[in-house]
Amino acid sequence: MIRPTATPARQNEILAALSPDDYERVHPHLRFAELKQHDVLYEPGAPVPDVCFVESGMVSCVTVMESGRGTETSVVGFEGMTGMAIFHQVPVASDQAIVQAPGTGRFVTAAIFMQLLETCPSLRIKLHRFAYAQYALAAQCSACNRRHSTDKRFARWLLIAQDRIGGSLLPLTHKFLGQMLGVRRSTVTIIAEEFRLAGIIQYRRGSIEIVNREALEKRACECYRAIVAVYKTASSLPPVALSVLN
Ligand SMILES: [Zn+2]
Repeated sequence: MIRPTATPARQNEILAALSPDDYERVHPHLRFAELKQHDVLYEPGAPVPDVCFVESGMVSCVTVMESGRGTETSVVGFEGMTGMAIFHQVPVASDQAIVQAPGTGRFVTAAIFMQLLETCPSLRIKLHRFAYAQYALAAQCSACNRRHSTDKRFARWLLIAQDRIGGSLLPLTHKFLGQMLGVRRSTVTIIAEEFRLAGIIQYRRGSIEIVNREALEKRACECYRAIVAVYKTASSLPPVALSVLN
């Protein structure tokens, strides 16, 4: 249920990094909402009604084939915003956005968001950098899917999910992980059991607990570090255009 709120909305990294003037412009239009597991925010081929600055939880961006099977191409957590098609001046989504880990977010209607882009330079700059980081994530995962083994991709995916969800308990099923990695559920079950026996994770119905993060990082491919580096660079730059820095 979407409801207005007067409380500050600074848990999202993009909102937190806005200039004070831009935040004053954006804040009255933010609508607080819970993100419930498996809620679909938009579907491919349909208009994107809102953008959502995610505060907690995790949203998956999924490419859906004609067969109906989906594969995750990127994720959004507290560092980002869903509905990036609107930012790129495209009103219709090419992918599905589905909540994988429940949390909260701040929604802005597509029409209002377009107006805010015109008047909020720090919002534009932060979203350009986030869009680049999202592109880099999708590109790295594309190469990863061709070059790296499923167990390394499994470890990489869990690390990325934990970075966004926080805590050690991830509300994810083997079926979902299979969809996200584009492999059979039985393959995920075999890998998860191997990781469990190695003392890296525990799992029970509907959730996976990371019990040894250091070991998980050692099992992941280089792609995890590459993705983290891009997000770190993109999020640590000040909310001004690069030309101002020179
Ligand atoms: Zn990889």
